[in-house]
Amino acid sequence: MTALLDSLGVRPLINAVGPATRLGSSTPSADVLAAMAEAAAVYLPMHELQRAAGAEIAALTGAEAGYVTNGAAAGLMLAAAACIAGDDPALMNRLPFTDGMRDEIVVHRGQRIAYDHAVRASGARLVEIGFHDLTFPYELDAAIGERTAAVLYFSNSGANALPLEQVVAIAHARGVPVILDASLAIPPVENLRRFADLGVDLVAVSGGKWIGGPAASGFLYGRADLLRSVALQQQDQDVRVETWHGAPLIAGGTVAGPPHQGIGRALKVGKEEIAGLLAALRAYVARDHAADQARWRAAAQTVVDALAGIPGADARVLPADGRERGWPIAEIALDEPALGLGAYDVVRALAAGAPPIALDEAVAWRGALRVTPTHLRDGEAAVVAAALAAALRRTDPTSAHTKADRKDTDA
Ligand SMILES: *Cc1c(COP(=O)(O)O)cnc(C)c1O
Repeated sequence: MTALLDSLGVRPLINAVGPATRLGSSTPSADVLAAMAEAAAVYLPMHELQRAAGAEIAALTGAEAGYVTNGAAAGLMLAAAACIAGDDPALMNRLPFTDGMRDEIVVHRGQRIAYDHAVRASGARLVEIGFHDLTFPYELDAAIGERTAAVLYFSNSGANALPLEQVVAIAHARGVPVILDASLAIPPVENLRRFADLGVDLVAVSGGKWIGGPAASGFLYGRADLLRSVALQQQDQDVRVETWHGAPLIAGGTVAGPPHQGIGRALKVGKEEIAGLLAALRAYVARDHAADQARWRAAAQTVVDALAGIPGADARVLPADGRERGWPIAEIALDEPALGLGAYDVVRALAAGAPPIALDEAVAWRGALRVTPTHLRDGEAAVVAAALAAALRRTDPTSAHTKADRKDTDA
């Protein structure tokens, strides 16, 4: 089964980080892989596949329309391009060069994160409001003007951003759409419908992070007219007016003609990803989410229990808080001087073990380690717990998690 990886000499690892593109994102289920294989075996009109997939995403989220992207970052870039160019193919053809265009996207200064590069890659210019810890509603209103294409909002980011509801209300009062990055807002699954109910114009979700879709998948949902612009800028446009499936759009006066290959053409999504994302999303909305939470809590507790009594290590389970995080984690505060060991030393030690373990480094800067249990597979929590205990007790880390341990322990 691992013949290819063996031949390449690339070792699988235990993922205690959670959703991470750099670690391969997801391990799609057999059903998802079967859907991908089914799509892989045939040729089909991609615009029809997208239309059907989009209709189902709309039904599952309660939005007007949906669209499959090759990740949430791609979704952000496409969303920005749609808000800038609208239905104008001449403008689409010019992106990312926006001279003279409505190209400003307003964002909380406290919500500037590295993923906003995807928005800027459309050609958009970010206009910041507020400060890191405080923003007033009038600042959003004042930032919206003639050149405003959209307001961008990151869920789970920025301690004192205006509430999403208020951002939507202010933006809509000025006729401006809101783009939401919901990558870290699901779970809970209820947020999918909540964002549609709130009237968010375009919501970007990652397929590879929580939903169990292929790594290079995700989706957008929201306003049908904006997702039409997304389709025009993302789909292959090696087409002729005489036979174009979008001819009714020309006849109806919506677009002057097809654009050329657009800025989204580089964000190609294959039929396999569309099929896999849809199969994953169907399964995700039907999952027993309470059972997931219980399993994650138990895995986090396994780690905490294994570290009890180790001097210099204070481990606890942090529950899902619904604001920053919709899942439980284990956090281990280290007394680095007493241990004679830093958080990054422990990360390095576990990464060098067999099998390698990737730990969550989010708070290593303050001398703490995290185990995010959501992407651990059966038995792996005990392996992580034993490896952490060995590293913190400074026993031989390589003897702490052998293949034998993996077989007879269960989280
Ligand atoms: C991971 C992430 C993304 C990108 O998602 P992909 O599906 O990997 O493209 C965007 N925004 C945030 C906040 C993320 O955490």
